[in-house]
Amino acid sequence: MGLFTELSSENLCVRCTGRVFANVGHSLTNTERGNRIFFTSKCFGEEILLKEEKECSLCSGIFLEIPKYAGEIRKRLADYEYSTVLIGSSFPKDLLKREEEIQSKFGGLGEPVKKEFSRELGKFYSELTGKDFDREDPDIMVKVNVEYMSIDFQIKSLLIYGVYNKTIRGIPQTRWIKYSEKTDTVESIIGEQLMALGKGTDFALHGAGREDVDVRMLGNGREFVIELTQPKIRSVNLMKLEENINNLNRGVSVSSLRQSSREEIKKIKDEKHYKTYVARLQSGEPLQCEKLREICREFNGKVIYQRTPLRVSSSRSDRIRERRIAEMTVECSPDGDHILTIEAEAGTYIKELVSGDDGRTKPSLAERLGMDVKVRELDVVMIKR
Ligand SMILES: [Zn+2]
Repeated sequence: MGLFTELSSENLCVRCTGRVFANVGHSLTNTERGNRIFFTSKCFGEEILLKEEKECSLCSGIFLEIPKYAGEIRKRLADYEYSTVLIGSSFPKDLLKREEEIQSKFGGLGEPVKKEFSRELGKFYSELTGKDFDREDPDIMVKVNVEYMSIDFQIKSLLIYGVYNKTIRGIPQTRWIKYSEKTDTVESIIGEQLMALGKGTDFALHGAGREDVDVRMLGNGREFVIELTQPKIRSVNLMKLEENINNLNRGVSVSSLRQSSREEIKKIKDEKHYKTYVARLQSGEPLQCEKLREICREFNGKVIYQRTPLRVSSSRSDRIRERRIAEMTVECSPDGDHILTIEAEAGTYIKELVSGDDGRTKPSLAERLGMDVKVRELDVVMIKR
C-alpha cells in the first residue's frame, strides 16, 4: 500500500492531513499543506481521498466552530476591561492519542490538533476584538474545553503597590478568623476601596512585614501590594483610590500608589530593612535616667538572642534568632515617662528586648536594669530603605 493510500485510509480532512506534516516547512497553514499533499498525490496517480471537515474522523469539523466560540468568549468577557489574552484548549485524550499514532506512522512530523485549534481561535479572536496575545502574562486566560463545549476564564489579579501609615492602635494588618468582619484592618480599609473602583471579587494585602495590632506605623510608612481578584476594571484611577482611602480617616492612609507585579510582592516580602521604633516605658518602680542612658549605650551595635516570644509561640516555631541593635537612646522625662528610640534589624521583637520575656531574650533592658520594665506603647517611626 502506497503512502497516499495509507493516508486516505485514516479518513482525514484536508486540514488534518496537512497537520500530519505541520513541522515540514514554515510559512504554510495546515490546510495549505493538505492541499499540496492532495496535489502531489494526484500527480503520482494515487489521488488521496479527503473528507469534508465535518466528516473528518479526527477533528469532526471543530474548526468550523471557531466563530461561535470566539463570539461566546467575547460575550462572556464583555464586562471585563483587558487588553491581552491567551487562549488554550483541551481535547478528549483518546482523540489526541489517536492523532499521535497517525502522525508517528508518517514520521512524527505533525503537531497536536489542540495546538492548531488554540492558535486559530486566538488569531480569530484577536482580529474580532483587537485584543493582543500575551503568552507570558495575559490579563485573561481562556480555556476552551472542546469535549464538553465549555469555556473557563482566569482573570489576572490587579496588583497595586503602595506605602501605608497606621495612626490608630488596635488595627490588625490583615483579616483573621479571630477578628469579626466588622473589625477594621489595614487590609480591609485599603481593599474595600480598591474593590469599589476595580469591581473585583475579593482582595488580599501583601505587606513588607507587619506591626503588632497595638503598634502604630508612622514615619515613612510600610510597603505593601494589594491584590484585587477578578477585577472588571484594570485602569483604576489611583489618585482617586488614594483620596478615597485617606478621606475615610479610619487610621490608615496610603501614598505612592502604582501598578505592581507578582515579582514585586516577593521582593517586598523578602526585604530585611532596619527599622526605628519609639517605645514608652512602664515600670513598677521609678527608673533612674543615668542608669538607663548607660545601659542604652551598651546595646549600640550589639547582637541579642531572642527565643520565640511566649505571646506568639502558638503560631511560630520555637527557635533562637540573632538580631542586631544598631542604636538605642533614651529621652528621660521628669514625670517618669521615659521614651526609648531603638534602631534594630528586621524581625527584632522590641517588646521582648525591653521586658526580657522571662529570660527568653538576652540581654534585655529589664535584665540589665535588674527590675521589671515593659513597653507601654510602641510605634514604628522609620523603615530604612
Ligand atoms: Zn479534520
